[in-house]
Amino acid sequence: MTETMWAYRIEEWNQPPRPVEVPVPRPGPGQVLVKVAGNGLCHSDLAMSHVPAEVGRGLGWRVPFTLGHEVAGWVEGVGDGVAGVANGAAVALVSPSSCGACRSCLRGQDHVCPHGRAGRGYGRDGGLADFVLAGTRDLIPLDGLDPVTAGPLTDAGATSYHAVKRVLPKLVPGSTAVVIGVGGLGAFAVQFLAALSPAHIVAVDTNPARLDHARRLGAHEGRSGVHAGTADVLTDLAGGRGAEAVLDVVGSDATIAAGLAAVRPAGAFALVGAGGGGFAGPWFGGLPRDADVFTFQGSTIADAHEVVALAEGGRIQTDADVFTFDRVAEAYEALASGTLRGRAVVTPDGCSAR
Ligand code: NAD
Ligand code: ZN
Ligand code: ZN
Repeated sequence: MTETMWAYRIEEWNQPPRPVEVPVPRPGPGQVLVKVAGNGLCHSDLAMSHVPAEVGRGLGWRVPFTLGHEVAGWVEGVGDGVAGVANGAAVALVSPSSCGACRSCLRGQDHVCPHGRAGRGYGRDGGLADFVLAGTRDLIPLDGLDPVTAGPLTDAGATSYHAVKRVLPKLVPGSTAVVIGVGGLGAFAVQFLAALSPAHIVAVDTNPARLDHARRLGAHEGRSGVHAGTADVLTDLAGGRGAEAVLDVVGSDATIAAGLAAVRPAGAFALVGAGGGGFAGPWFGGLPRDADVFTFQGSTIADAHEVVALAEGGRIQTDADVFTFDRVAEAYEALASGTLRGRAVVTPDGCSAR
């Protein structure tokens, strides 16, 4: 194996990422070395080059670190103490980080592990490289799925799944579910709703191409928006009764206001998008009565396994726009400008300096 590899790294706080030649990591005790097949790009990555030092350090992040938290590939080697993991096995890697030993982890709520704020691709080395390190709890065996395009299932897929699974009990026949922002995450949310619920699915996006795509994935209706000052754009849903569930995968002031206004009493509102918006309304008369209003990051390990199982069963698909490593900046530009058809996935091939 070669001694060095290319990695797309944030080298200093508040600086844009760039390709850097770095040593190939060696698996320590309990670790697995994974040869990357593909790494999905997430909108959250775009914010990581703007993280100030005090914020990054407060999260326990270190610089430099390699971007990429939607990884799949093949086991290349294992460290001491790792048993039952075969070289060459195709795996996807659980995206959120967790300790496995705290009260939350032991209850299966590893997505709220207090030790999980730094992880692969956010403050530690991620998958935009030839090789990456993982723990054995991170490995999700792939049975028939192509590792080049499986990475997005672990974050865009699993995060959306976590939100959909939580609102499923509200979605009885005759219900309405809304997804605001049907990009990488939202396209998965539409698919989970279509596969697992009887709800009438309304997709909302400012980009008409994304609305068309959402319809192909199972949305029954597409609506344009949400812009500032259009908080009432969804209030006519279900004859004015409102939606049983609204998933806001944008998270701006405008989408939060419109989303909350569209939830019927005893419904649910999930804030998934990290658009930095807030809620300024009064609690009485501003929030839907007796509704579940929640936010979260990532998913549980169990969620990620279930999403992979749904994909293996052909119940959901990953639409990927595949880029080689030499085009990673172009791929991020396409994500930022909304011109992707599917989730951007970067393979380690094609670096001319290799
Ligand atoms: P994306 O760029 O692929 O998709 C965003 C979509 O929202 C696009 O289709 C865009 O056209 C649409 N949009 C933007 N503004 C809109 C508006 N005002 N009204 C309606 N639609 C609008 O991004 P993504 O990777 O799917 O990420 C979506 C959000 O989720 C980001 O904020 C990201 O940081 C966040 N995220 C959160 C978690 C979590 O754990 N909670 C995990 C991953 C990503
Ligand atoms: Zn992400
Ligand atoms: Zn823990």
